[in-house]
Amino acid sequence: MIDLKDVVKIYRTGGEELEALKHVSLHIAEGEFTSIMGPSGSGKSTMMNILGLLDRFDEGTYHLNGQDVTNLTSNESAHVRNKEIGFVFQSFNLMPRMSLLDNVALPMVYSGISAKERKERALEALRKVGLADRIAHRPNAISGGQKQRVAIARAIVNDPAVLMADEPTGNLDSKTTLEIMKIFQDLNDTGTTVVMVTHEPDVAQYTKRIVSFRDGEIIDDQPVLDRKTL
Ligand code: ADP
Ligand code: MG
Repeated sequence: MIDLKDVVKIYRTGGEELEALKHVSLHIAEGEFTSIMGPSGSGKSTMMNILGLLDRFDEGTYHLNGQDVTNLTSNESAHVRNKEIGFVFQSFNLMPRMSLLDNVALPMVYSGISAKERKERALEALRKVGLADRIAHRPNAISGGQKQRVAIARAIVNDPAVLMADEPTGNLDSKTTLEIMKIFQDLNDTGTTVVMVTHEPDVAQYTKRIVSFRDGEIIDDQPVLDRKTL
């Protein structure tokens, strides 16, 4: 599913160079549920942005779902991203003036799907996250946990091969965090590969594998032996 080999990422700002990823290799098979852990600044978001085709890298190769995505143009990246990847951010990134239904339908706008089917699929995605009764609300009328559920619905509406999330529970309290982890577990149980960043060890216990970063390198990679289920 995900095959990253020897990836180097260098940020260049004002003549300074920072090697944020130092020859990172990572293989994630279909059906896995992986958490990425590590201290602030260790390269977790840099790696997620590369996995999500939101950013480019300087050396190495990336294969996603059998396709070499190492050197795509931005148009090609956008196409692969829309088809294969659902991405969830810590800060939800919903459109404030749109209804929840329209927010979730947004990724389908340029996909040639009829308006009727877009609506049906958005509704189905909102049903999966338990928000089918809120479709006409605006994002500012719902709680943070509900916003994140809408963001997850938007991320899964195109039925992506892999769902990626960068600290999706970073802005949420512990009860709401577990609600989100339950949704990820349910999606993983029905076949979606999930990769998420968290800095909370307790949250990582709900996943199947923990990959640990430090200073731009993977320093540990372990299965979760006593996985908690919700
Ligand atoms: P994490 O998500 O683990 O906190 P990041 O991937 O955000 O870490 O950052 C890794 C390193 O790269 C840090 O030293 C950070 O300051 C640096 N960095 C991240 N984004 C940029 C950027 N856009 N430009 C320059 N440096 C960056
Ligand atoms: Mg980060």
